Amino acid sequence: MTLIDNLLTLYKVDRQVRSLRSRVESAQIYLKVQNREMDSITLERTENEVQTKQRKANIANKAVNDKQYSALLAEVNTIKELRKSFEEEILIEMTSVEELELAAADISQRADEREKVEQVAENELKVRKSEIAEQLAELETERSTAAAVIPEEALNEFDSLADDYDGEAMAAIEIIDLKRKEYSCTACSLRLPLESVTSMFGIKDNFVSCVSCDRILYLEAESREAIAPTEK
Ligand SMILES: [Zn+2]
Repeated sequence: MTLIDNLLTLYKVDRQVRSLRSRVESAQIYLKVQNREMDSITLERTENEVQTKQRKANIANKAVNDKQYSALLAEVNTIKELRKSFEEEILIEMTSVEELELAAADISQRADEREKVEQVAENELKVRKSEIAEQLAELETERSTAAAVIPEEALNEFDSLADDYDGEAMAAIEIIDLKRKEYSCTACSLRLPLESVTSMFGIKDNFVSCVSCDRILYLEAESREAIAPTEK
C-alpha cells in the first residue's frame, strides 16, 4: 500500500465519522441556544426580584417614617400636606411593585415554556447520541487503524486539511484533455501543472498537493489507467 492509498482509506472513514458527528452537533447547537435563552430569563427574574425587594423595602420605610412624622407633627398645620406627599410616594412604590409582579408572572410563564423546549432539545440530543453511538465507535476504531499506518507529518497535514475543508481533505485529479495533458483539481477546479500529475506516478511515501487549494491529490483507478495504461 502506498501512502496515498492509506490516506484514501483514512479519508473515506474520516468523512463518515464527521458526518455522523455532525448529526449530534446540530442537536447540541440547538440545545445550547435553548440554554442561553433560559439563562437570559433567569437573569431577568433575578433583576425583577431585586427590584421588587427594593420597592417593598421603600414602602416599609416610608410607612414607618409616616407614623413617626404623624406623631411628632400632630400639631403642625402642614401635617396634611406632608401626609399627602407620603401617600403619593407610597402609591408610586406600590404601583411599581404591581408592575414588577406582573412582569414576574410573565417571566415565570416564559421560563416554563422555555423549560419544555429545553427538555425536548435535551431528549433529542440523547436520542441522536444513542442512535449513532455504536456506529460511531466502530468507525472511530476504523479511523484509528487507518490513521495508525500514516506517518505523523502526513497525518497532521491531513487532519488540518480535513478540519479546514469540513472533511474534504483530498481531491481527485480530473482529466480535462488527455491528449493536451490538461488536468484539474475536482475540488477547486483549478488547472493543475503537468508536473503535479506526473509526480503522482512512482511515488510511494509522499503525496502531491493541489497548487491552489492544498488538498491532497489522488487519481481514480480509471484516470490512472487512462494516463498511464498498464501493459496487459
Ligand atoms: Zn484544488
